[in-house]
Amino acid sequence: MIDTSPVACKEFFSYLEKLFSISVSDIRAMIKDFHVEMGRGLSGDESSLKMIPSFIDKPKGNERGDFFALDLGGTNFRVLAVKLDGKGNARVPFASKFAIPQEDMQGTGVALFDFIVGCIDAFLTENQVDRSKTYDLAFTFSFPVEQTSIAVGKLIVWTKGFTATGVQGRDVVGLLIEALKRKNISCINITALANDTVGTLAARSYVDPACDMGVIMGTGTNACYRESISNIEKLDVPIADGHMIVNMEWGNFDKVRRTCYDRPLDKASVNPGAMFLEKMVSGMYLGEITRLVLVDLIRRDLIFGNQAHGAGCFAKRGSLRTKGMSRIEGDKTDRLDGVALFFKTNGISNITLHDKILLQRLCRIVSARAARLGAAAISAVLTWIDPKLKDVHTVGIDGSLFEKYPGFKTKMDDMFKELFGEKAERITLVHSKDGSGKGSAIIAAVAASSKP
Ligand code: ADP
Ligand code: MG
Repeated sequence: MIDTSPVACKEFFSYLEKLFSISVSDIRAMIKDFHVEMGRGLSGDESSLKMIPSFIDKPKGNERGDFFALDLGGTNFRVLAVKLDGKGNARVPFASKFAIPQEDMQGTGVALFDFIVGCIDAFLTENQVDRSKTYDLAFTFSFPVEQTSIAVGKLIVWTKGFTATGVQGRDVVGLLIEALKRKNISCINITALANDTVGTLAARSYVDPACDMGVIMGTGTNACYRESISNIEKLDVPIADGHMIVNMEWGNFDKVRRTCYDRPLDKASVNPGAMFLEKMVSGMYLGEITRLVLVDLIRRDLIFGNQAHGAGCFAKRGSLRTKGMSRIEGDKTDRLDGVALFFKTNGISNITLHDKILLQRLCRIVSARAARLGAAAISAVLTWIDPKLKDVHTVGIDGSLFEKYPGFKTKMDDMFKELFGEKAERITLVHSKDGSGKGSAIIAAVAASSKP
């Protein structure tokens, strides 16, 4: 590669690299802080980690039967039928996907739950489900919920653009049952309320007994793991032995070193002062961090020198997305034709090879920090469960960022090697697809089998 960069540019990129770098000693410090916050969250003390008990353990792998699952937590709502064969196979014989109308997302809770039940009704009819039988159903609801038993939980706060009134502070299963009654649907028995992280752990551990952790790296980021019930001090129930999955809500972890780019992003967000880790790690934010640095580069006249008119294209918040970074970083052509095409479709043509190299480098700086912070958080949880890493651990991960961002998994694996040396081999990250669908049906099966 020919280095044509002027000194100022070179210096600025060295500065950026340093600013966004996460060293092994940074990670060790973060792990310590994570453990403190985990302990506080489990004891019920003030903590940036909510550590929410799920009231369910991981599956044994022999659960079988037919289940339904609902998946609410993004732009689409899904209803699925899932068949478990008791040998590690979860099949989806039929599923339907519905776009949630804006007026139901942001109207009244009654309208939202009536919409959900309308979808269930359509699903039952379309697939000729016999309504004289009853079916166990798991409700995957991927918002922060204060769960008090396997099928009871109150919404703490809406996220991801939902604002339906009369739902915050209420039991969402109760609201669903009321809506089912309004529509005279009596063949559905809601046996579990789940979160997508818990579903992801369940989906992977159904086939892999070494899986004790589930992670989401998509629009947001979160994780759950298998904890000894005796360690969940705040749990006020007389069940002392055994294990339970704990939903950490780790996106809110706040002992992180933020930069001059993270702060304005947080300020302009709908939830300033919260979700610091999520804002440095997940798909909803990486594009925006990159855009803020790019705007700074343009302002300093370090990029697009020949394209001053085009620079305004990225002036708007949200105009550079993580998916775009994925395309920029994934371009392996000699002259970075893919990067050029990406910018051309965004109004900036004829960019120089030098600028293309800089853009790729910028995306790498931002995504590497995300991958390393994600891996650091996983390391914290695994060393909490198993301080000396004596056992093998599989981590089931779902989400488009982990699945699709070029080199994301490799960067995480590299960090484990830096931190743990040879023992890093004991950590396996696996893409566990559709935790919020198949995984929650598995949770419904675990709930059904653990009924007294
Ligand atoms: P959700 O988290 O909403 O359930 P996904 O797991 O599909 O859904 O994650 C969607 C997010 O993943 C998007 O908001 C985007 O930030 C990111 N994303 C989507 N496609 C890609 C891609 N090709 N590369 C990297 N990130 C992507
Ligand atoms: Mg999802």
